[in-house]
Amino acid sequence: MARTLEMFEKPRKIREWLMHVVDCANGNCGELEDGEQVVAMKCARCGHESGWIPLPSVTAAKRGIPCPKCNTVPNAEN
Ligand SMILES: [Zn+2]
Repeated sequence: MARTLEMFEKPRKIREWLMHVVDCANGNCGELEDGEQVVAMKCARCGHESGWIPLPSVTAAKRGIPCPKCNTVPNAEN
């Protein structure tokens, strides 16, 4: 299932904290049409909120984006 992702994987495994969608501008995160989405993202680890940001697609929104606070120190748990 993850085979198509292999080409995108980085050689080093760095733990990446992701922010996930907490709200959507269209009010319904479950039935988004593909295309640009305006969403609010929040990090479950540090609670950082992105505010309203545009993302290029539903896929990007559901995958999450790296938290700018939690990812400043690579391999923090080393
Ligand atoms: Zn964070």
